[in-house]
Amino acid sequence: MRDYTEITKRLKNLELPIECIGNVHSYPIHQIDLASSANMPQPVLITGGVHGDEPAGVEAVLQFLERDNTALLKQFSFTIIPCINPYGYVHETRETRNDIDINRAFETDVVTEVAIVKKVLGQTQFSFAIDFHEDYDATGFYLYEGTRNEKYIGPQLAAAAKAIGPVDPEDPGEDAPNLVEGVYKVATEWGTQGLAPYLLHFHSKHVIISETPTVWQLERRVALHLTILDTALDIISEMNV
Ligand SMILES: [Zn+2]
Repeated sequence: MRDYTEITKRLKNLELPIECIGNVHSYPIHQIDLASSANMPQPVLITGGVHGDEPAGVEAVLQFLERDNTALLKQFSFTIIPCINPYGYVHETRETRNDIDINRAFETDVVTEVAIVKKVLGQTQFSFAIDFHEDYDATGFYLYEGTRNEKYIGPQLAAAAKAIGPVDPEDPGEDAPNLVEGVYKVATEWGTQGLAPYLLHFHSKHVIISETPTVWQLERRVALHLTILDTALDIISEMNV
């Protein structure tokens, strides 16, 4: 069993407004908004813990929140949900307590965790969204990218992330078109059952799913996620100068 109260404690230590957006099986799901200092900020969504047994994503979100993001806030605003599947996080299961894979459930409205996230999303349109995951079978990292304008930054992200560790040599087997080594396109065949494809269709013109190998040490997985995120924000900010 993993300690979810530790997550809550770290969030409360941030001295940022934390919103409880819902309770699932007695665990709160939190949302943190980082307001921008810009007049017209680009809204970014960051999510972790869709799969409960992938703690590096939750840890990456927490470490992002715990660091100084003043420079980024000159251009971006952030909506952050650190752990979408707290029951799974505590019990170290991919699925929810009801054996639902949240990342295959966004076309339904009967899954509590999904309903909570959809309510938060409302009518919001994001410039960019990133969802942090892990892969138990992988030996290196990889990522999925979806973009409405077909301008892919994945190759640059993978190049930057190679400083942290190697690309996974295996195809993840999700029928996603391969762009370059370690970069796959969000497949249209997936529909909108997964969080990232759902966001791409309804809420974000650009999405990334970052995948780290569980065999790496936690800190290295976190570093990988944050490198992908920071590199993406860097490229996006240059695109809009
Ligand atoms: Zn996952």
